[in-house]
This record gives sequence, C-alpha cells and structure tokens, in this order.
Amino acid sequence: MSFLDVLADKLTADAELTPDDLKNILQLEGEETLRRLYALAYEVKTRYVGRKVYLRGLIEVSNICAKDCYYCGIRRSNRNTRRFRMSLEEILNEARWSFEHDYGSIVMQSGEIQSPEYADFIEQAITGIKELSGGKLGLTLSLGEQTEETYRRWFDAGAHRYLLRIETSTPEFYSTLHPADHSFSARIECLKTLRRIGYQTGTGVMIGLPGQTIDHLVGDLLFFREMDIDMIGMGPYIVHNETPLANRMPEFSAEKQVTMGLKMIAAARLFLKDVNIASTTALQALHPRGRELGLLAGANVIMPNVTDTQYRPSYQLYQNKPAINENSEQSRLALEKSIANIGETIAYGEWGDPRHFFNRGQ
Ligand code: SAM
Repeated sequence: MSFLDVLADKLTADAELTPDDLKNILQLEGEETLRRLYALAYEVKTRYVGRKVYLRGLIEVSNICAKDCYYCGIRRSNRNTRRFRMSLEEILNEARWSFEHDYGSIVMQSGEIQSPEYADFIEQAITGIKELSGGKLGLTLSLGEQTEETYRRWFDAGAHRYLLRIETSTPEFYSTLHPADHSFSARIECLKTLRRIGYQTGTGVMIGLPGQTIDHLVGDLLFFREMDIDMIGMGPYIVHNETPLANRMPEFSAEKQVTMGLKMIAAARLFLKDVNIASTTALQALHPRGRELGLLAGANVIMPNVTDTQYRPSYQLYQNKPAINENSEQSRLALEKSIANIGETIAYGEWGDPRHFFNRGQ
C-alpha cells in the first residue's frame, strides 16, 4: 500500500495524523500524487467545513511599521516606500462598500503601530464599522503585537477575530528572520492573550523561507494544534528586493513555492479539520490561479483586497503583489468568476466563523 492509501484509510477511520504522517505529506512529489493529496484534503474540507467560500474584504489601513522584519517590504528601514495611513472616513467607506456587496466580514490590516493615539483611532474605526452595518459586518483585525489593554478595547468595541502570524514556530529560526529586539515569546504571549480575551484566534507562517526545513514546517502544523488555533493564514514567502532576506534567496522558484504552499494547506486541513484556512494573496501573486488551487487543496476563506487603488502600490510586502491597479469592483468580478469555475459558491452575507471556535475543548 502506498503512503496515500494508508493516509486515506486513516482519514476514513478518523485516526489522528502523526508528525511522521505530516512529514511524509510535505515530502510528496509528482503531479498525480499531489493531485490525490489535494483531493483527500478537499474531501476532509467538504466533510468538516463544507464547500462555501467565505470572504473577508481586506483593508490595508497603514504601511507605517515599527518592526524591521528581514523579509517584509514595509519594514521600518525601507526608505523607498511612501508611508500612508488611511483616514477614518476612507476606512469606513471601504467597509461600507464591503457591506453593500455582501462580503460578510472584513479584515483591517496594517504595519505595527503601538501608540495610544492609534489604539483610539482603530477603536473609533471598529465602532464606526459596527454602526454602519448595524453590527452585521464581521470584523477581523491583523494589526500586530499590542498590549492586552488595547486588544481588550478593540474586542469590546466589536472586533471578534484576530490574526497574528507567528511566521515560524521554531524560536532559533525566528531569530534569523528578525532583529534581536523582535521577541518570539512576546508574540506567543500575544496569541495566548487574544485567546483568553475571547477572540477567534488565527496565526500562520511563511512557507519556503530561505533556511526553512520540512521539520520546521511540521513543527508549525504541530504548533497550530498545540495552540488550539481557529484560523490559519499562511502563504509562500516571496522575495522583496529591498529587504535583507532577498540576498539569501538568489534562486527563487515560483512553482516550488506554490507547491509547498499548497501541500501545507492540504496538511493543515487533513490534520486540523474544522479550522478556517485562508487561500492567501501570496499564492495568487505566484500563480494566476493560485487562490483557486488553494481552495482545491483545502482552504475555505479568501481575502479580496478592497483597499483604495491609490494605496495599494505602497502596501507591497513582497514583489509583484497582484491586483495593485485593479479596483475593488474588478477584483470582485474576477473572484466570482474564478470561484464559479471550480464549482464552489461564495457565502455572501455570512460571517463564516471557524467551526473550530465552537468545537474547542469538546
Ligand atoms: N503587522 C501585522 C503583523 O505583524 O501581524 C500585520 C501586517 S504584516 C505585513 C502581514 C504578514 O505579511 C506577515 O505576518 C507576514 O507573514 C507577511 N509577509 C511579510 N513579508 C512577506 C513576504 N516577503 N512574503 C510573504 N509574506 C510576507
């Protein structure tokens, strides 16, 4: 029996996957083998979370960032990017557009800004978004590390999901990707705090980083389980030339990055079953059908960009970010078409909370 036959039997019997299973999954190769892997993950997705795609309109609120991560295009030291912060009115307009187009939920994302003024500003935005939608628009935040008090204020104002990627779950590897004052343990504490406050908590990693091994990625999947994570947003690492990490990846293969990204989505779905998994923009950046391939490998959430096109070129975390000149209406139409093409439907108007959040501890 092949490994995939054994895996299929395990899934039918609802048996737990082991770390060795995860490692074997990530080492699978060959078109036909991978096609079978994705089909298995798709079956598990259908069984546990269904075949609807949940949308989160992505608002890139600001690219001002106090962090200096070695891989990221909006890192503090990159002087070649025009810094911006949207006005409250602009944020509310984009939230209103998402609400009027039945997106169900939005995500506010930005560089990391830790100031009382910013905490107030975001709180006002949250309150405004809840008001304009009569509480109907679901709201995820992805605004980096903050104090417990700030997280609580934003939760009390109406945000109910938070996405904070750990980037890698291996502390020694984390320290090669960040300056010494970026603390791995502080990030873990933030994730624990978010959970304790009551947020639906999401994390994720970059896949295909220079120096990353299969064992690191297996560790990441085990970390998601150990932290009882509700939502996963992970995607391939993509070089940005104006970052220190660019020199460490002279040969970049989009194909390899996409394949490993898809294998990680499939492995996460097979291992964790009832979580929400995003098919991220980075996949789309590397492959014209990247987001659809992500859905077919087990993802169930898409985050269409609804940021005003004037700001999109300045929020470049990596090179060749897709749709920087496309307005939100064009993005929506393109997305509808591509989702219909793979036979799935968009869950318009639904929050699409992760089932895992409600199943936790059972
Ligand atoms: N500042 C917030 C935080 O730290 O969580 C959110 C914004 S941050 C720019 C969003 C995510 O972009 C990061 O968590 C990281 O995983 C991803 N990212 C940054 N640079 C990237 C790159 N070169 N390739 C792929 N993803 C990248």
